[in-house]
Amino acid sequence: MSDQVSAVGDGFAARHGRRPDGVWSAPGRVNLIGEHTDYNRGFVLPFAIDRRTVAAVGVCDDRVLRVSSTFTEEEVSLAIDDLSPGAMQGWSAYVLGVAWALSDEGHDLSSAPGLDILIDSRVPVGAGLSSSAAIECAVAVALNDLWDLNLSPLDLARIGRIAENRAVGAPTGLLDQAASMLGREDHGVFLDCDTEEAEPVALHLREEGLEILVMDSRVEHEHATGGYRDRRDSCEKGAAALGVSTLRELSEDDLDRASAALDEETFRRVRHIVTENARVVDTVRTLGDSGPRAIGALLDASQASMRDDFEITVPEIDLACATAVENGAIGARMTGGGFGGSAIALVPADARSDIGSAVTSALASAGLREPHLFTVTPSEGARRDI
Ligand code: ADP
Ligand code: MG
Repeated sequence: MSDQVSAVGDGFAARHGRRPDGVWSAPGRVNLIGEHTDYNRGFVLPFAIDRRTVAAVGVCDDRVLRVSSTFTEEEVSLAIDDLSPGAMQGWSAYVLGVAWALSDEGHDLSSAPGLDILIDSRVPVGAGLSSSAAIECAVAVALNDLWDLNLSPLDLARIGRIAENRAVGAPTGLLDQAASMLGREDHGVFLDCDTEEAEPVALHLREEGLEILVMDSRVEHEHATGGYRDRRDSCEKGAAALGVSTLRELSEDDLDRASAALDEETFRRVRHIVTENARVVDTVRTLGDSGPRAIGALLDASQASMRDDFEITVPEIDLACATAVENGAIGARMTGGGFGGSAIALVPADARSDIGSAVTSALASAGLREPHLFTVTPSEGARRDI
């Protein structure tokens, strides 16, 4: 049992005067490759990380959900019969939204008992590591067990996504929740966002002596939401002009036709999605055939495509990636929605600290904000801990 799990169990006992009936947890995630492809019904390859959100839960003899978090003093209560997106605000929507999504998807909660839920998270908020999916998935596995729902991990990921889209109001794809639910140690989750089929892919990082260095730029752009929506619009515009319902349907063979039919900017947006889908598939194949040391060029090409074609990177991220690669990283790319956030570098473990120092001093010399650097390990997805 981790120290986090036992501390949350103790925190629950101090707050509620009894031990929890169980403790569940789910991780944050990093996307190894496949950016902005999810809403174009393409491919992504994220993995679950070794930073988790824990939910300690006790059954009550009423029909009320009482939610608290070590992140805030606020405690929020809502009766199961009163669940609706309008009845939940702020952080508690990530928890209560999962219960609402279950009822909205037709699961019978008429005899479900009330619950006391205490959340504790070690996934940093807003660093692009999906603290939001980690809460949703920890709560989803807990409710699945305590309310005897017998849902599959993929079904629970879909429930988490419904909570995020319709209770919280963030228009995200299934990537985050699929990684958090389905992650495995030293594996990525290869997800087809059209069929929603997911497959574990061995990464072999440990046996190759490799690590993933996260370089959090600590840049949060005001335009992040506007930029994200704008890119979605460009993708829809490109697909409509080319007569397809999603960009997933295009391959690199269609790019000449796309270049003739589209304005220059829309063409570059389309080219990113088409080439990025191909890179995800190539990465999965290369990992299987040749191992992780062979995927560097794909990571670098993805970074260049996000920088030049999709234009979602910031100078801090571009310089961090270039410096990491110049100093011995196998490959480096931005990860997450863009306009700030984090990049990842695939690095030999024994070179990690030199690469990190080079990145920090390059950003300092350029007068840019100091990045926050740390490593993550591909880890197990959502589970019951006690
Ligand atoms: P990200 O998922 O990239 O970390 P989001 O904006 O999607 O960022 O989700 C962050 C939000 O999730 C926070 O603003 C907060 O509402 C909620 N959240 C994250 N961690 C916790 C926590 N430990 N307790 C309560 N709410 C949390
Ligand atoms: Mg999120």
